Amino acid sequence: EILTALDDFQPEIIVMDLYMPGCTGTEVAGVIRHQPQYIGVPILFLSGEDNVDIQLNAMSRGGDDFLTKPVKPWHLVSAVSSRALRARLVRRLAETDGLTGLLNHSKSKACLKNELARAKRENTPLSFAMIDLDFFKHVNDRYGHPAGDSVLKSIANLFKQRLRTYDIVGRYGGEEFIIILPNTDLSTAKKIVDVIRTRFSKLVHYCEQEDFRCTFSCGIASYPEFRNEKTISEEADKALYQAKEAGRNKVVCAKSS
Ligand code: GH3
Ligand code: MG
Ligand code: MG
Repeated sequence: EILTALDDFQPEIIVMDLYMPGCTGTEVAGVIRHQPQYIGVPILFLSGEDNVDIQLNAMSRGGDDFLTKPVKPWHLVSAVSSRALRARLVRRLAETDGLTGLLNHSKSKACLKNELARAKRENTPLSFAMIDLDFFKHVNDRYGHPAGDSVLKSIANLFKQRLRTYDIVGRYGGEEFIIILPNTDLSTAKKIVDVIRTRFSKLVHYCEQEDFRCTFSCGIASYPEFRNEKTISEEADKALYQAKEAGRNKVVCAKSS
């Protein structure tokens, strides 16, 4: 039951008694800590148990702190909020890419899974775009790696400025990005990304040698045309490849057969 509850609720912190009907908090902590996605969620025991050996055993199975009842309300609030805040910061670090501040690869994939599940539940469309900078090796070779990094930051900023707050942007790999557009069908998604593509192609990047421009190519696949994460990503990737083949600086939509 605890695993379903965690999946549904996505807690930031767990406060748990040590003795519960049918199981102990130590056992439940052990089960939770076996799930890689919940390794970082703080577990705070709150119990009348004052035997330090038992407390330490509970901690060794994955608890982060032990508060003994009766507890002063202020102590409980303070213990919960400080740990929740710390966990939030650590989680943000673990989920974001250091250079661009966008979501990293694994978080991007997790978001696609969640958003697709939501689209199915709510019966709404969803579009998934894969973006790859054009001839980026050339940018590094000619203008240097720091100039390349600065292009990566500027495209990330452009995405953040141009997309809605509920759109999700991730850095999928070196010079590859993904955008998840909830509640957006294929043709709308193409229009949105095309506006960003045109704007990006006009951005002037500066470096010591000279000013230069850069472009990107994009492939988009949508739900409900494609129904799971794997096919959506594969089809977007194929469409991206077609955009490259067709001369780059293009957005290509994946067609369902
Ligand atoms: P294409 O148009 O076919 O995508 O050509 P491309 O040159 O962009 O593709 P390729 O995969 O050959 O090169 C990708 C380059 O991206 C190579 C790598 O040095 C560069 N790159 C990857 N990550 C980073 C990064 O974090 N910073 C910088 N500056 N460059 C990066
Ligand atoms: Mg690439
Ligand atoms: Mg590239």
